[in-house]
Amino acid sequence: LSSREFHPGDTVVDVDGVKIGDGHFVTMAGPCSIEGLDQIRECARIAKAGGAEILRGGAFKPRTSPYAFQGLEEEGLKYIRQAADELGMKVITEVMDEGHIDMVAEYSDILQIGARNMQNYKLLSAVGKTGKPIGLKRGIAGTIDEWLNAAEYIAVEDKSPVIFIERGIRTYETATRNTFDLSAVPLIKKLSHFPIIVDPSHGTGIWDLVPPMARAGVAAGADGMIVEIHPDPANAWSDGPQSLNEKTYMKMMQEVHIMEKAM
Ligand code: PEP
Ligand code: MN
Repeated sequence: LSSREFHPGDTVVDVDGVKIGDGHFVTMAGPCSIEGLDQIRECARIAKAGGAEILRGGAFKPRTSPYAFQGLEEEGLKYIRQAADELGMKVITEVMDEGHIDMVAEYSDILQIGARNMQNYKLLSAVGKTGKPIGLKRGIAGTIDEWLNAAEYIAVEDKSPVIFIERGIRTYETATRNTFDLSAVPLIKKLSHFPIIVDPSHGTGIWDLVPPMARAGVAAGADGMIVEIHPDPANAWSDGPQSLNEKTYMKMMQEVHIMEKAM
């Protein structure tokens, strides 16, 4: 159901009026973690000024260490919804647990499945029943075939469209956080009718590599990107080293818009 064989035309995902896969490059921007109402409002202001239509921010965080900040949970969901609504933006946020789907779906327009849950099949089936678009991150060591099968678990429920998110995979390389697999973009486009966006933030882990990889995402034919920004990356509660500040984000967005026009 997710393959091109079944559905030759492109699926355009309609996120409450914001179209993904219609030929324009959609940007989802915001902090890794929602840290408070003022912080997410400031992020939303910056995100929107650069042209992002969708606000990202995690309220349930899949942290490597159980001692690291785990997210503001429902309080954070309320803040991101409010910040987005004030500026007419849509929301994408991660759902980690089947038991939280109803809660997250109440506040978010897109449900994000994190890399660590790409093969959590019960969670995939359950989010597939919501009817909300699902942002499906590629697993940390996920092959293209495993990723497509994960999308199939969602598609088989016949309710929710999928947005693939390439966020890098683990390889022997340690100079970057992940190895950003740009070839996944044209390959997924060839094999599936669902849109694919890039995540150059988790794909590289290093803020000054993010703008060139965002431009490369446009060149590769991605339908958009999801990018981490923060008003003060040095003091971000998570993923500061890969977060863009206002100045670097605005510059990247100008370049991305020029690239998009040239395509
Ligand atoms: C995130 O988007 O902040 C995140 C945790 O991403 P991933 O699941 O790709 O690691
Ligand atoms: Mn992050």
